[in-house]
Amino acid sequence: MPYAKRVRKIHCSHCGLPGHNRSTCEEHRKMIEARRHAKGSDDWYVAQYDRKQKKRAEKSKNRTCSYCADTGHNRATCKHLAEHIEVTREFNSAYRRAFYDSITKVGMGRGAIIRQVRGLNDTGLFVINSINWENINIWNGHLRFFSHREPQRLPPFESKPLSAIVAGRTFYSGYPYDLDMLSHILSPSSIENWRKDIHYLSHDRDALFAEVVSPVPVESPPPGWFDCKGKTIKKAYVDLGRHALQLPLRAMHNFDYPSQQS
Ligand SMILES: [Zn+2]
Ligand SMILES: [Zn+2]
Repeated sequence: MPYAKRVRKIHCSHCGLPGHNRSTCEEHRKMIEARRHAKGSDDWYVAQYDRKQKKRAEKSKNRTCSYCADTGHNRATCKHLAEHIEVTREFNSAYRRAFYDSITKVGMGRGAIIRQVRGLNDTGLFVINSINWENINIWNGHLRFFSHREPQRLPPFESKPLSAIVAGRTFYSGYPYDLDMLSHILSPSSIENWRKDIHYLSHDRDALFAEVVSPVPVESPPPGWFDCKGKTIKKAYVDLGRHALQLPLRAMHNFDYPSQQS
């Protein structure tokens, strides 16, 4: 079983059932109420229970949300976070659609042969051997130096040299040069510079972007991919923090987050 699927379950020390603990156990509460009825609230067990419940209530009133810093709720119940995740999901879905349209148009699927410059005098041909669907996200806006160690620099494609498909090392390949699609991950000023061919990376264009020389039909993405269902975005908010996710949205869409704390 994959690591992420192994969910740690809490078990109740009173009734033994999973999903709650003793302080929220309905059976335990009933037992205490029966005891209160028989022996009164001064009974040691009943009084102990009341003390703990009172402490619990105070703790939840004073708790601070680690996401928005408001009090009275925590990260798991934070409405701001839920709202921000939803907005990010919408932008990410739009980007994924544009990305899929773009690679479909040029036939940049698994098995396609692309040309990408790899250093001086090297106009190598590569074969796409994997589309990393889960890496296609608005916060993966880097055009070069893809790295598997940094979640913000994950490569969209992996490829092998056409001359060494089996034994050759794996290369990370970039996007097709499609400014409409790229406008989802690059700022308007950056897109403008690319259009005018005055971007500071313009001279590196053939190295950054892949040109398809032998197209193939593109496979369908995994189920739910277009809608970004699942935990991708929620997990990104945990792993990268909101700064990393919201900066691209501000930069690209001039989007200001509702209920933003200063
Ligand atoms: Zn229980
Ligand atoms: Zn909050």
